[in-house]
Amino acid sequence: MILKYDIGDIITLKKGHPCGENKWEILRRGVDIKLKCLGCDRQIMIPRIDFEKRVRKIKDGEKFVSIIHYKGRED
Ligand SMILES: [Zn+2]
Repeated sequence: MILKYDIGDIITLKKGHPCGENKWEILRRGVDIKLKCLGCDRQIMIPRIDFEKRVRKIKDGEKFVSIIHYKGRED
């Protein structure tokens, strides 16, 4: 499948962070995905397979779109 996620993308997960925020910046890709919570700046690492299950929306321009409708950026 096509890799849709880039470093710097802002996404939401199925569940937000305990701090109350549910916006995360992708810091690193790979077998594990490194995310930074935009509410408290806490960083987490989750396995890519879990990330794929938990990701819900991605910021595309000024708005968030459902990941199932997101085709990735045009270069
Ligand atoms: Zn947080």
